[in-house]
Formats: sequence, C-alpha cells, structure tokens
Amino acid sequence: MRVPVSANTPPVLEIRDLHKAYGALEVLKGVSLRAEAGQVVSLIGSSGSGKSTLLRCANLLEDSQQGEVLFCGEGVTWKGAGHARRPADAKQVTRIRTNLSMVFQQFNLWSHMSVLQNVMEAPLTVLGEPRDVVEPRARALLDKVGIGDKCDVFPAQMSGGQQQRAAIARALCMEPKALLFDEPTSALDPELEQEVVKVIKDLATEGRTMLIVTHDMRLAGDVSDHVIFLHKGLIEEEGHPDQVFGAPKTERLKQFLSATV
Ligand code: ADP
Ligand code: MG
Repeated sequence: MRVPVSANTPPVLEIRDLHKAYGALEVLKGVSLRAEAGQVVSLIGSSGSGKSTLLRCANLLEDSQQGEVLFCGEGVTWKGAGHARRPADAKQVTRIRTNLSMVFQQFNLWSHMSVLQNVMEAPLTVLGEPRDVVEPRARALLDKVGIGDKCDVFPAQMSGGQQQRAAIARALCMEPKALLFDEPTSALDPELEQEVVKVIKDLATEGRTMLIVTHDMRLAGDVSDHVIFLHKGLIEEEGHPDQVFGAPKTERLKQFLSATV
C-alpha cells in the first residue's frame, strides 16, 4: 500500500456481502471488498464469474438484492427488498456514480463528439461546471495521457489505444474519488495494450484509488495492492499480488493461473 491509511478514514468503496441475481441466475453470492484511498484492487476470474456485474453494482448501474455498498463510509439507502430493492435517493446515486468513474472495455466514447467534447461533456452537464474551468482541465488530462494533439479529432479517427486513453481522460475529468476499470485492455491489440497499461501504471503511482477488472495478470501483479479471485460469484481467494500469483492456495486459482499464462 503506497498511501498510509488512517484508522479513522473509511474506505473509498466498501462492499459487504453483496448478492445479485438476474431472475433465477445468482451471479454474486455474497461478495465483500474494500478499496482504501490510494489502493489499487484488481479483480480476476474466468469469464462469467461476475466481475463486470460486481463493478456495475458498485457504482449502482445495477441493482442488487442484498448486502451493502458504502461510498466513503456512506451506505446506499435502499427502498424495497429482494428483487424490488432499489436505491432510494437519486441524488445519492448521482453523487456516488460521479465519484466512481468507469472505464469500459469498448471505450464507449460518443462518436458524434470530438475527443475534447467527450472529455468535457459530463463535467459540463452532470456537474454543471463552467466551460472555462472544464476546458483547461480536459486539455491537460488529454496531454497527460499522451493525446493532447487529438482534441479536435473524432473517436473513429483514432486507434483503439488512443480511444481508451481518451476514455481514461474522460473518467478523470470528473475528478472522481476512484476509477473503476472493466477489462480496459481486452479490446486492444498487444502493441496498443501497452500504451494503456502505462497510463494505468502512472495513475497507480500517483496514488489513485482504482478497482480494476483485468485478464492481464502482469498488469494486476504490477499495480495492485490487493488481488481478488472471483469464482462463480464468490471470492475464492484474495491477497497481496505476491501471494495470489506467487503462492496460490486453492486448486481453482492454480488452475485459473495456469490457464491464463
Ligand atoms: P464477467 O465479467 O466475470 O465475465 P459478468 O458479470 O459479465 O461476468 O456475468 C456474470 C453472469 O451474469 C454470466 O452468467 C452472465 O451471462 C450473466 N449476466 C450478466 N449480465 C446479465 C444481464 N444483464 N442479464 C442476465 N444475465 C446477465
Ligand atoms: Mg466482464
């Protein structure tokens, strides 16, 4: 852990015993995790193990039936129960969602907007910040991820690696408390993957709080303070990356790691 954690500071994100089903399909069967300020937590596991669902439940893009989601110590207020359970407070949902910015596998940039417009859009419309504040910040972030010369370009005119870096700049422009990445390099060719990996490593070095779903075990090993191996909706094993990758305890994790090398 790069940033000392004060005993009095609640984690940026905490999930307690979360249960999520799509109809009869139980996807999360009681998952708990915490990301302290400055920590990088990686989620690994086979396809279908529930990693994306967990991220989406964390920033309230999905409902969950049981368990708690806490943002900086503040628990989500729910109404209803079971499959009828929903967040009760729309303002709280917006506050949490804007503070846990997501970066998706497929970038999800607006194709009809320039890169600069993409990065400025949410701070202007969701946060209501003035353009003269947002624009310099957006330009500086595009510089930071190495595409400062692409402000006026449309996403389709850029490589996948450039688009994903624009998506990271867009997430950062909300000045979130944490970044949630869902397989940020999976859609990229290997040579483009590395330019995105570098940006993520730089963010980790800066002490950003991040929750990263990844198939890239080297990335998870390099940047994480804590690695969680999810198997069929449950945490099968978790720990420091040296332990999870260097001395896996469970047969399932051993099998998973040998299959991904
Ligand atoms: P992962 O990201 O680990 O590959 P997901 O969280 O995407 O796994 O999916 C976990 C399980 O939930 C899978 O069986 C998937 O088919 C199912 N699932 C995901 N999203 C939906 C949905 N919107 N409706 C129904 N089932 C879904
Ligand atoms: Mg997924």
